[in-house]
Amino acid sequence: MWATPSNDEYPHPEAVYRELGARGWLAPHWPHEFGGLATSAYAAAVTAEELALHGVPDSVRVNTIDNAGATLLAAGSDEQQRRYCPGMAAGETVFSVLFTEPHAGSDLGGITTRAEPVADGWRLTGTKTWNARTSRAQFGICAARAQVQGDNAYADIALFIVPLDHPRVRVEPIATFNPEQFFSVHFDGAVLPSDALVGTPGQGWSLLAEALGLERTGICFAGRARRWFDQLVTSLRARGELSRAEDEHALGRMDAEIRSSRLLAWQAVQRLTQGTLSPAVAAAAKWWTSELAQRVAWLAWDLLGPTADGDSYFPDLALAVREAPGLTLAAGTSEIQLTTVATDVLDGGDPWEEQD
Ligand SMILES: Cc1cc2nc3c(=O)[nH]c(=O)nc-3n(C[C@H](O)[C@H](O)[C@H](O)COP(=O)(O)OP(=O)(O)OC[C@H]3O[C@@H](n4cnc5c(N)ncnc54)[C@H](O)[C@@H]3O)c2cc1C
Repeated sequence: MWATPSNDEYPHPEAVYRELGARGWLAPHWPHEFGGLATSAYAAAVTAEELALHGVPDSVRVNTIDNAGATLLAAGSDEQQRRYCPGMAAGETVFSVLFTEPHAGSDLGGITTRAEPVADGWRLTGTKTWNARTSRAQFGICAARAQVQGDNAYADIALFIVPLDHPRVRVEPIATFNPEQFFSVHFDGAVLPSDALVGTPGQGWSLLAEALGLERTGICFAGRARRWFDQLVTSLRARGELSRAEDEHALGRMDAEIRSSRLLAWQAVQRLTQGTLSPAVAAAAKWWTSELAQRVAWLAWDLLGPTADGDSYFPDLALAVREAPGLTLAAGTSEIQLTTVATDVLDGGDPWEEQD
């Protein structure tokens, strides 16, 4: 009988993160004073790819370093950077990303969580959902409407640092098919100090878009595709089932696709490092690498699934199949990525043209 893993089946990666953090490898592109090595984003991409190749869940790193950390480095006050960033880079301070709401995901212009100005701070009211691994985090980075004047749905979005042990913050698990645990987070008039605001009210939208950088290069998805594919081939070889011609062709095609997806992801990393990664190129890389990793999981299931229980050559199969559906949703769905590419093309741009 196929053994179904329980929710949050992935091993918790904190020990690995702390090992990396002690060497400065968790956020190598950050300044020395914040626990990094002051390298380029290339080194961060190496860390991201290696974690994926070794099956270490990366959502905590993505949320803490690539998302919350990048936001604090871009717009946080000196005090906020000093207070949070060294712990993040050390693998000790963990942030959850609190953007999605029950009725606002792809378009965060629809969020309704409110941050009302009160004496010496902000009062936060609303609900977030699909927040990955929030129970492992001490803080959330939360998008809310800051009640400032604005001329469109994005103008008053602001980002706040929320301590998740606040008495008026409730974190509830959501049952899902995904091997990672997801949560809803409820703010019941939680009063935050004024220095919980990151940047200025209204700056949130541009910060949200910027912080998705490394995730949208697709480097993590390309790494997953390679890991799962290699396990599939090893398992088929061990079973002596690598002989049917139609399977060989499918496997050969997929190997070639994985190699090309890695090149695409690294090209996006290169542009990110140079500061020339356009939204359309990032969208193409995210779309292609996540769709491919998903297809690897489906092919593995087709070829091995029902007989794979206890397969020591493909230990990740159950996790891969359960993680696969979310790959093309997280960090922007495939439809949104394709819309971004199409908009650029229809506007007469060439997304691949090098930008200054
Ligand atoms: C693995 C995973 C991890 C996640 N982690 C987090 C997290 O840590 N924090 C967090 O805040 N959120 C997280 N999310 C939520 C994620 O950001 C949202 O699921 C995503 O933005 C899509 O939003 P939605 O689920 O509300 O779907 P919707 O936006 O309602 O979309 C539903 C469907 O409609 C399509 N669609 C929507 N708009 C358009 C359009 N304009 N044109 C064409 N098609 C459209 C979408 O592509 C999708 O297929 C995570 C999701 C996953 C799967």
